[in-house]
Amino acid sequence: MPSLPIADPSDVSRPSSTADGREHLLNWTSEQLGAWLSEQGHKPFRGRQIWNWIFQKRATDFDSMTDLPAALRTALDSQFVIFRGSIAKEEISPDGTEKLLVRLADGGEIECVLLMDGIRRSICVSSQVGCAMGCVFCASGLDGVDRNLTHGEILEQMLRLQARLPDDERLSHIVMMGMGEPLANLDRVLPALDWARSQDGLGISPRRITISTVGLPPAIDRLAKQGVPYNLAVSLHAPTDELRTQLVPVNRKIGVRPVMDAADRYFESSGRRLTFEYVLLGGINDSVRCAEQLSRLMRGRPVLLNVIPYNPVAGLPYKTPTSKQTRIFRETLEKAGVNVHFRQRKGSEINAACGQLRRNRQTESA
Ligand code: SF4
Repeated sequence: MPSLPIADPSDVSRPSSTADGREHLLNWTSEQLGAWLSEQGHKPFRGRQIWNWIFQKRATDFDSMTDLPAALRTALDSQFVIFRGSIAKEEISPDGTEKLLVRLADGGEIECVLLMDGIRRSICVSSQVGCAMGCVFCASGLDGVDRNLTHGEILEQMLRLQARLPDDERLSHIVMMGMGEPLANLDRVLPALDWARSQDGLGISPRRITISTVGLPPAIDRLAKQGVPYNLAVSLHAPTDELRTQLVPVNRKIGVRPVMDAADRYFESSGRRLTFEYVLLGGINDSVRCAEQLSRLMRGRPVLLNVIPYNPVAGLPYKTPTSKQTRIFRETLEKAGVNVHFRQRKGSEINAACGQLRRNRQTESA
C-alpha cells in the first residue's frame, strides 16, 4: 500500500467487541461468518440469509430472523450485535433532511445525513471520528482526529439511514462526505463500499457512490487501481497554493498541482467525470480574481464544479457570501465556460455543515 503523504494519527485499531463481549457483526466478512457458522454446526447458506435479513429486510436484531433455527438465533444473539452504536441526537429539517448524531461504543460521536431530493434518497456518511485535515471553516476538524471508523461503523450509518425510509423506498446515492477524510481510512471505507454496491448488500451502483477527498494523491491512485468506477469529488476550496494552504492546511504538504494531476489520473483510469467542491466563503475566496484563477484550473478538464455557499459555524469567523458576490462569482465562471453547479444548502436549519451537530452538543454539555 502506498504511504500517505501525511502522518495519519487516526490509524488506531480498536477492539471490535462491545462491553458485554459481543462482536459487531457488521465488521465481519461473509467468509468469517461462514467459518463461524460451520464451527457452530450450521450450513453456510445461513450466512446469506443473515445478511439478507440485515441489508434487505432491515432487521436490527436476530429474533426477527424468523426463518433461522431458534438455536442459531440464540447463538447469534449471544455472540453478536448488529448495531453497536446508539443515536445520541436526531434532527429533521422542514425540507426532509434528517441528520443523526451516532454515539459509538467507545463514546466517540459521528454524524450522518439522509437527504430527500425528488426521487433521490441520498446519504452522507462519516469515515473518521473528527478529522486531521484541519480545514479552517469546518466544525469536524476543529478538534483534530480521534480515530478511524471500522468498516462496520461505516456500514451501520448506512443501515440506520436506510431504516428511516418507508419499506418501499431504497437508498439511491451514497456520498462519503461526512466527518473525516475517507482516503485516510481507505482500508475500512473500501470494504464498507463493497457491501454498499453488492447485490447482497445495499445494491447501489458505484456510479451513484461518491468519495470526497481533500486530495491525497497516493490514495487517489490506490483508489483508481481498485478499478471500481466510484465518483471522485475533490474539495479544492481555493485555486492557488497560497490561499488553499490557508484554508486547507494539509495542502502545504501536497500542493494544488499534484492534486490536479492525481485527479486527472483518476479520470483516465475510471472514465468518471471529476467533481471539484468549492465552499464559497464571504470575502475570502469569492473574488472575481479567484473565479478567474479557478476557471483556468478547470479549463480542458472534464469536470463539474460544485460551489457551496458557506454554512456558518458557531465560533468560527467565516461568513456566507453575499448574494451579489455569489452571482458575480457564478457569472465569471459561466462566462469562462466552466460547468458549474451552485449547490443548495439542504438542511441548513439543522446544522447541516458536517461536524456542527456534534460540536453543538459538545458546547451544550461543556
Ligand atoms: S471539510 Fe472534510 S476534510 Fe476538511 S476538516 Fe472537515 S471533514 Fe475534514
